[in-house]
Amino acid sequence: MATEAKVFEHPKKAFGWAARDSSGVLSPFNFSRRETGEKDVAFKVLYCGICHTDLHMMKNEWGNSIYPLVPGHELAGIVTEVGSKVEKFKVGDKVGVGYMVDSCRSCENCAEDLENYCPQQTVTCGAKYRDGSVTYGGYSDSMVADEHFVIRIPDSLPLDVAGPLLCAGVTVYSPLRHFQLDKPGMNIGVVGLGGLGHMAVKFAKAFGANVTVISTSPSKEKEAIEHLGADSFLVSRDPDQMQAAMGTLNGIIDTVSASHPILPLIGLLKSNGKLVMVGGVAKPLELPVFSLLGGRKLVAGSLIGGIKETQEMIDFAAEHNVTPDIEVVPIDYVNTAMERLEKADVKYRFVIDIGNTLKPSP
Ligand code: NAP
Ligand code: ZN
Repeated sequence: MATEAKVFEHPKKAFGWAARDSSGVLSPFNFSRRETGEKDVAFKVLYCGICHTDLHMMKNEWGNSIYPLVPGHELAGIVTEVGSKVEKFKVGDKVGVGYMVDSCRSCENCAEDLENYCPQQTVTCGAKYRDGSVTYGGYSDSMVADEHFVIRIPDSLPLDVAGPLLCAGVTVYSPLRHFQLDKPGMNIGVVGLGGLGHMAVKFAKAFGANVTVISTSPSKEKEAIEHLGADSFLVSRDPDQMQAAMGTLNGIIDTVSASHPILPLIGLLKSNGKLVMVGGVAKPLELPVFSLLGGRKLVAGSLIGGIKETQEMIDFAAEHNVTPDIEVVPIDYVNTAMERLEKADVKYRFVIDIGNTLKPSP
């Protein structure tokens, strides 16, 4: 059920755009952020990517949204202030924040650099800090976060392309690594050629894989192959194409944001193949068990990545020139961008130019 936020008044004024209810329409919103604590880094947000998760949350599709909701968890900007005990950052550094701003820091998951699986993991927007105050995301002028959850953006990486790596990038990088789908010569499938999907193609290619895109949009084929470097392209709604590719893939990253059949995808796997779900599909999917038994196949899930892995991912991306294809838009285009995202009409990630276009209301 959606809830209304108890509004905490902090000393620092902030300004952004928020959704007020499940219509999801965004409009200007004044709020406040906490003072920079001794372990905190404050930064001016210059760019913020638009992830489909923002859209799910704005429309309360997962049933737990808190309004007013300032979305945005692909933030990139410049440090403006650091607390007295901050060790990793200084004023002027290029930094970013992804989908998480806090975790308990003491559980088994946190101890293994898997803050993303901490039961107390706090997401960057539309959640509650442990003190009960609400997290407001990056469709806003400023951010304050504990330095542990702040990512250093490599010098060679422009800020506009850095944000999408912090959610879309790590969400596909992490399962490719963890499930050992990162070995050269492997056949890797990517389902859904959107923000996450196009990053999965790029990372899998950087790891040396043969990549097959599995898409509902035949119009994306030419570009997937000629521009993104995919090796082949299957239209998931074409049974003949799917049949011809049965039993060919070592692993699949499924990034689809809505209900869809997974039996045909399991059929594409070789024996011991792995289907990793990363899309935030709200409704249960049908999983015919017999399709797994023959071939000892695995269906798994994965959520973003830990902080250490996120830093490793962005350093790898900078070194191997793995960057998202972005369409930079002004803040007052954001509602149109959401309509286009809903129709899968973006190549491949919208990024809001916060620094140049978000102006405080008088
Ligand atoms: P996106 O840019 O909208 O891409 C999703 C793609 O899925 C679309 O471009 C489309 O690709 C395909 N698709 C959409 N509707 C479909 C349908 N009804 N049936 C089949 N295919 C469909 O979204 P995104 O930002 O990449 O996010 C994808 C999903 O991952 C969202 O649900 C998001 O919440 C989730 N997510 C999860 C994590 C995590 O940690 N696990 C992190 C970030 C996001 P084609 O046109 O190629 O078919
Ligand atoms: Zn995201």
